[in-house]
Amino acid sequence: ERQQSGKKAGREWSRALYREAQSLMPGGVNSPVRAFRAVGGEPIFIERGEGAHLYDVDGNHYLDYVGSWGPLILGHAHPAVVEAVTRAARRGFSFGAPTEAENELARLVVESVPSIDLVRFVNSGTEATMSALRLARAYTGRSKVIKFDGCYHGHADLLLVQAGSGVATLGLPGSAGVPAEATAHTISLPYNDSAAVEEAFQRYPEEIAAVIVEPVAANMGLVLPQPGFLETLRRLTTQYGAVLIFDEVITGFRVALGGMQARTGVLPDLTCFGKIIGGGLPVGAYGGKRAIMELVAPLGPVYQAGTLSGNPLAMAAGIATLKELQKPGCYEELERKGALLEEGLRAAVEASGLPLQVVRFASLFCLFFSAEPVLNYAMARKADTRRYARFFWALLERGVYFPPSQFETCFLSLAHSDAMLEETLHAIAQALRVVAG
Ligand code: PLP
Repeated sequence: ERQQSGKKAGREWSRALYREAQSLMPGGVNSPVRAFRAVGGEPIFIERGEGAHLYDVDGNHYLDYVGSWGPLILGHAHPAVVEAVTRAARRGFSFGAPTEAENELARLVVESVPSIDLVRFVNSGTEATMSALRLARAYTGRSKVIKFDGCYHGHADLLLVQAGSGVATLGLPGSAGVPAEATAHTISLPYNDSAAVEEAFQRYPEEIAAVIVEPVAANMGLVLPQPGFLETLRRLTTQYGAVLIFDEVITGFRVALGGMQARTGVLPDLTCFGKIIGGGLPVGAYGGKRAIMELVAPLGPVYQAGTLSGNPLAMAAGIATLKELQKPGCYEELERKGALLEEGLRAAVEASGLPLQVVRFASLFCLFFSAEPVLNYAMARKADTRRYARFFWALLERGVYFPPSQFETCFLSLAHSDAMLEETLHAIAQALRVVAG
């Protein structure tokens, strides 16, 4: 029988594994946010996931709102995805030659996302953004790139300026080891600040190759684009001959099958994907207008390659995931669940009397421990991270796994039932009482 809370079985085995991990890997982890530094304490080692639940090595289970940071929109180990990957595995893992599965996933992407004529698969979101920017620079013959403070586009040198996610969590100004030359052409501006973008274009009318943006910012907590912001980016990039890149690594196939561009009608020139298109296996992709994508090797002079790119297992997981998402009613159901959770969150927040901001968009949500609405990174950084840490642990004790940082977003999946959402809201109300008390 399942235990009711995350506390009962203790965490001795997680603790032992973490000690060993620290002797083998920097900080004991292979991606920094996993180390729980932003909330103090030690990470939980996961044994398996099923639907909306995570099971740790000590026998505790948790309702999971991290979802591997976004890919698991169907929940853990969805039967259709498990079946597809298993079938693919029996045929061999990697060929370094084309497969039909690549056509199939590419077709799904091209047919689902309005602005995409051609797509190239890579192995991570980082590779996707790095390659898209190389391509944008080649296409325009220009060097400068505009990004936004608190947006995270992976860990390529040129993008590690005022970046969100783990960089925000650890309070790093960027990263050691990135030479000044690598970021000399990167301009980082406040999210939602259309005037700042306009000024940058006026200052460098013929030098800006691209604007890259998370069309919903989900790496500084969750910050929504204000009305007109994305439209302004589209207008200015068109006017000045720059490439508009939407980083839909999180929003792609999550806020709609066609991503944020389908929701807003603002169509970028290039789009980056990751997470959901790999269904939990390592995949990224970039794609867009034919005239730009035709510059990619072997058609054109922009080199980009990968031993495992288009990997058959990853393609199988992506295809199975997108096919599930194509079934009628998926996004309506995610919206209904999101709205249900939001309503309960707002009630819990009001009852707590704490200064909190509830932000929710589709199946993404975030609770900012902040008195004022958050529109950009400077505002996000004013959040009370110590309170968030107390909230995080109080929730975990009650069997609910939220991101171990204030500057991350919570992910809902189709596997979260209404009863689980109720259970979550109950735990949240209790955790807020702990924080307030
Ligand atoms: N872009 C966005 C919006 C992301 O959220 C992330 C990762 O969280 C990335 C890019 C980088 O993707 P990856 O971690 O697969 O390299």
